[in-house]
Amino acid sequence: MGSDRGSRPKPGEITLANKGVLFLDELPEFDRTVLEVLRQPLEAKQITISRANSQMTFPASFQLVAAMNPCPCGYDGDASGRCRCRPEQIKRYQDKLSGPLLDRIDLHITVPALPIADLQNAQAGETSEQVRVRVIAAHKHQMQRQQKVNNELSPSEVDKYIQLGESEQQLLQLAQQRLNLSARGYHRVLRVARTIADLADSDTINSAHVSEALSYRSK
Ligand SMILES: [Zn+2]
Repeated sequence: MGSDRGSRPKPGEITLANKGVLFLDELPEFDRTVLEVLRQPLEAKQITISRANSQMTFPASFQLVAAMNPCPCGYDGDASGRCRCRPEQIKRYQDKLSGPLLDRIDLHITVPALPIADLQNAQAGETSEQVRVRVIAAHKHQMQRQQKVNNELSPSEVDKYIQLGESEQQLLQLAQQRLNLSARGYHRVLRVARTIADLADSDTINSAHVSEALSYRSK
């Protein structure tokens, strides 16, 4: 991740992922200092690498997707009771991810293991083609409204373009206290709620959109 030891800074993985997806599997297995380095580019969408006699800035606008297990063995919470990890092992594993890093990840989703029978009886969901149509329409709404995607809105642009009704405002304020949301987290929830409304082809953000955005911030 841009941490080559040479005297001349070279683009690292996150710059190679510019305008694309950076997927980090087994997130807590990465070195903590490497994970903390992600914080600056996740906000600024660029990364500055300093060496003794030079400093360079590279583009780093990427979509971060990461996966992790609930514990080192992967079975914590599993109905089979197979997990043999000690509580302090699980805590150490989960503590590898700092609050400020998690604060910069908009959607946290727990995916429980599915019994085979459920997999076999699964109903067909929306096809990729159907989702694609909705995504293109949502993107168009965003470009028409503000000439950029919701994720790129600065805090002052969020205030300008993302307006809530009174009850939605109250819902978010309550949740802010309960979840102990930072100002950054608050703006991120608003951007996600706006995107959910765009995907639902809705001009206004209603309570269901705000609740859904908050449900992705469970950690
Ligand atoms: Zn375990």
